[in-house]
Amino acid sequence: NDEEASAREAAATTDTGAPTIFDKIIAKEIPSTIVYEDDKVLAFRDINPEAPVHVLVIPKFRDGLTQLGKAEARHWDILGELLYAAKIVAEKEGILDGFRVVINSGPAACQSVYHLHLHLLGGRQMKWPPG
Ligand code: C5P
Repeated sequence: NDEEASAREAAATTDTGAPTIFDKIIAKEIPSTIVYEDDKVLAFRDINPEAPVHVLVIPKFRDGLTQLGKAEARHWDILGELLYAAKIVAEKEGILDGFRVVINSGPAACQSVYHLHLHLLGGRQMKWPPG
């Protein structure tokens, strides 16, 4: 089915460390709907939303942080910044009553873009467990 096909497609994407589409979004070479930005973090709407609110929160600099599974102690601050930015966006989007934060790390989690990103999802009742 479609879900399995897209999972396979995502799993086929490997972490080469090469620049990704998100670098172009950060550089504003391709358009995105930005909902929050500061010197370290950018948050923009996912082009294929899975919920009424679906925002990606990403660091502006990768510094080897292609996936959470590659995090090092030096990334401590940015990891905290990303989570806090998610809360700020949740507040701006009016979903503080309930929202979900997801990080897909690596092929088995269907990560498809190898630039660390946090999914902020909300605006509907979320189910548990996720797939
Ligand atoms: O966690 P994962 O790597 O699968 O998520 C990547 C996300 O990036 C997807 O939800 C996809 O819709 C989104 N995306 C986007 N804009 C792009 C490319 C991907 O919002 N140009």
